[in-house]
Amino acid sequence: MGQLDNKVALVTGSDSGIGRAIALLYAAEGATVVVNYAHSQQKAAEVQQLIEQKQGRCLVLQADVSQYDQAVGLVEKTVAEFGRLDIMVNNAGIEIHAPFLEVTEEQFDRVVALDLKGAFFCAQAAAKAMVAHKSPGRIVNISSVHEDLTMPQNVPYCCAKGGLRMMTRTVSIELAPHGITINNIAPGAVDTPIDADVKADPTKMAALLNEIPLHRMGQPDEIAHLALYLASEVAGYVTGSTFTIDGGLSVYSGAF
Ligand code: NAD
Repeated sequence: MGQLDNKVALVTGSDSGIGRAIALLYAAEGATVVVNYAHSQQKAAEVQQLIEQKQGRCLVLQADVSQYDQAVGLVEKTVAEFGRLDIMVNNAGIEIHAPFLEVTEEQFDRVVALDLKGAFFCAQAAAKAMVAHKSPGRIVNISSVHEDLTMPQNVPYCCAKGGLRMMTRTVSIELAPHGITINNIAPGAVDTPIDADVKADPTKMAALLNEIPLHRMGQPDEIAHLALYLASEVAGYVTGSTFTIDGGLSVYSGAF
């Protein structure tokens, strides 16, 4: 018996990193998983292969979630294929580092279109399907400690994740009468390709580790286990909240 038997889950950006780990764990727990990718068909096919090797069920769908039609289309295709959607994970995200004085409109739009608008309209489309099917669905957003914590030279990302925080808090109230929950996960530094530049620079890496009381990066699988809890039936009383998973990063004052 898996914790997600008979559930259908859609995970955006699940060809890599945290989304990949969530897709693999959900499938191992019995969910039928839609693996979404934007650019790398090959990496998505690898995830599918890993799931199917363990007798899991999976469908790969390409969609650029920063585009409204494709975001909504992704949810609609999932529902058309499986007749329902129980778990929506808004994971796809990018960051573009630049000093505030130099951020361009194009950079701002790219980050906010994926990290906030994409999550917003996937959540909306998923919630419409959940309401229509009277399903006590679960929406899980992969936010960041930077939904609250400042990060200089990453302002569009902080704006998008901060927006995601208020989206989740507000939407939780509108979806509560339908029995649908929505929560955020706020990871600190997780070992995925998004942080490749930091890992490649020993000075930046040492500085990062000094800010983390547990003195290591998190692993994608550790985030996936929290995403499993929030998607599971036992989390039915949890909504509108952010769950930080950061090795102590966001409570560290630097004084110890
Ligand atoms: P990653 O680069 O491995 O994954 C990002 C995913 O988003 C990839 O699967 C990529 O294909 C997908 N993606 C990019 N553009 C897309 C688009 N237009 N449409 C659909 N998918 C698209 O990095 P990750 O660390 O696994 O990031 C996943 C989420 O976790 C992001 O939202 C990120 O902000 C968040 N996060 C990561 C960290 C970290 O340290 N790794 C910390 C906090 C939050």
